[in-house]
Amino acid sequence: MTPDIKPLVAGNWKMNGQRDQLDQLALMSKGADAELSQKLDMVVCPPATLLYVATALAEDTGLHVGAQDCHANASGAHTGDVSAEMIADCLAEYCIVGHSERRTDHNESDSDVRSKAQACWRAGLTAIICIGETEAQYDAGQAEAVLSAQLQASVPEGATDQNTIIAYEPVWAIGTGKTPSPEDIEAIHAFLRNELVERLQGPGERMRLLYGGSVKPSNAAELLMINNVDGALVGGASLKAEDLLSICEVYRKV
Ligand code: PEP
Repeated sequence: MTPDIKPLVAGNWKMNGQRDQLDQLALMSKGADAELSQKLDMVVCPPATLLYVATALAEDTGLHVGAQDCHANASGAHTGDVSAEMIADCLAEYCIVGHSERRTDHNESDSDVRSKAQACWRAGLTAIICIGETEAQYDAGQAEAVLSAQLQASVPEGATDQNTIIAYEPVWAIGTGKTPSPEDIEAIHAFLRNELVERLQGPGERMRLLYGGSVKPSNAAELLMINNVDGALVGGASLKAEDLLSICEVYRKV
């Protein structure tokens, strides 16, 4: 945690979730009670098909809704894509950009991610910008260099702690059950904090730095208490309300 930064836990449902999982969203809304919502911001990012109904379910509760990706343009001839404006029109407040699955599956570059983050801001959304090294880069001791380059190139000028959140997600920890050691996470997050402060000054001190990669109820207490870890981006464990809430509950006692 970082003193004076309100943590945020975001669940990324990826390409999972149909109407029969709406009961999980309803349970999440119920679990995001006033006391817990004071302690953290709880966000769920369902697929685009469920966004509008998700915001309706979350209305007037402590649960916030985000999307998983957006197109850089506001509208136009981009079959199958969804713009940040459309996401905002669904009353969502956040949008993940640059997730490693998008970078890999859709060849998204840092410059694409930067444009998408700018699109989020244009539409009034908070961008959750993902960065992360591969296992080979980690093993070769290149993590910091890779992350620094991604941060520089993916985060647009004008980023503030209000319009941007950074999620550090080692690619090799996503969906694998593997995580870096707490010491490694602390060192990387301290490095990222320094990079943010050097570039953005005050807003870099206050910007939320999430950890993502195999966070689950059994390791959340340890991972979320690490210095400069201001919350988590959670994939698999966010599909069940019970698991996501159990991760969020870590903050109730602090
Ligand atoms: C993710 O998709 O961003 C993620 C961190 O997945 P998981 O928690 O399943 O590793």
